[in-house]
Amino acid sequence: METDAPTAAGLIDPVSLAQDLIRCQSVTPQEGGALDLLEARLTELGFECTRLPFSDKDTPDVDNLYARFGTEAPNFCFAGHTDVVPVGDAKAWSVDPFEAIIKDGLLLGRGATDMKGSIAAFAAAVSRLVADGSIKGSISFLITGDEEGPAINGTRKVLEWLVARGEVIDDCLVGEPTNPQELGDMIKIGRRGSTNGWITAFGAQGHVAYPHLADNPTPRLVAMLQRLTSDLLDEGTEHFQPSNLEITQVSVDNEATNVIPAEAKARFNIRFNDLQTPDELEARVRAHLDAVTAEMGGAYDLKMIASGDAFLTAQGKLSTLISNAAEKATGRKPELSTSGGTSDARFIKNYARVVEFGLVSQSMHKIDEHAKVDDIVALADIYETVLRGYFS
Ligand SMILES: [Zn+2]
Repeated sequence: METDAPTAAGLIDPVSLAQDLIRCQSVTPQEGGALDLLEARLTELGFECTRLPFSDKDTPDVDNLYARFGTEAPNFCFAGHTDVVPVGDAKAWSVDPFEAIIKDGLLLGRGATDMKGSIAAFAAAVSRLVADGSIKGSISFLITGDEEGPAINGTRKVLEWLVARGEVIDDCLVGEPTNPQELGDMIKIGRRGSTNGWITAFGAQGHVAYPHLADNPTPRLVAMLQRLTSDLLDEGTEHFQPSNLEITQVSVDNEATNVIPAEAKARFNIRFNDLQTPDELEARVRAHLDAVTAEMGGAYDLKMIASGDAFLTAQGKLSTLISNAAEKATGRKPELSTSGGTSDARFIKNYARVVEFGLVSQSMHKIDEHAKVDDIVALADIYETVLRGYFS
């Protein structure tokens, strides 16, 4: 960076901004001052900021922030969240989870890695480009306070608002913690989809000594689950693991030892790759349940609710830029992966090319969540290299 560059805006220090953000107690869905702080810092840099509170009758009200520097295309967007998960057992922490203490090279605090550290790193990177006037297009922040919560009044609604306003995002970098062990391990270029299912097998209650007068639904449910778990959905693809169904609950609500129950219930989750869609999976599950019913009789109910489609961002400019920048800073060539849970990228993929790269994921959501101070500094450098490459 040229020190004599004309600068109206100050440079942001990624570590102190991360600390300041952690000190905002933004446990989902509380804003906690985190968006206020980020908005203030981005406004100083010359961003145009819009706060986007959304509400919905069944979920908590949530505040969000969209901020844009510049008006020209292309628009490079950083997406993330300032909300954090609860601290859990506060007494089990070795430090106050909101004090943002640095100890032995680690920044400790709720949100350090997921994902206030990466937001601060990106803001720091942007401040360097603002300072030397090298943004040839636009940079935006899409920051929600509803990623760790129901995700109803967050990114999804901000994206709808952007479309209604004619605002286009060309490329999006999500700052979720993507590296399993060390910074530079992994870039997420897609995610598996997720769908949940609930099965109820119906029968008729009666005395265990008189089974001919009752109809036990439990053997049918067991047969259904047997069929579902032995169905290999696919063998995976170059970029995805095989789709997988896991039974997450089986229940027969029956206190008595001499009663045949009237209902037997099960719940399952399917993590699926881009060979599957939620509708096709539901049809496939239903076919198994119908086959059992045809053989063993009885009636059943199936409900399935998908929480996200699988997606894959084709390898391209964005993943190459991040991969090269990460390798330059860390000496590691990141794996391009689609593993892990869902993120807001599942919504963004309908609007822009989206790739995820952030800090190390090991301690996220845990007691003593932390990020290496050196990693936050290096991540700011990586983001800076990505942005300079993007606008060059
Ligand atoms: Zn997160």
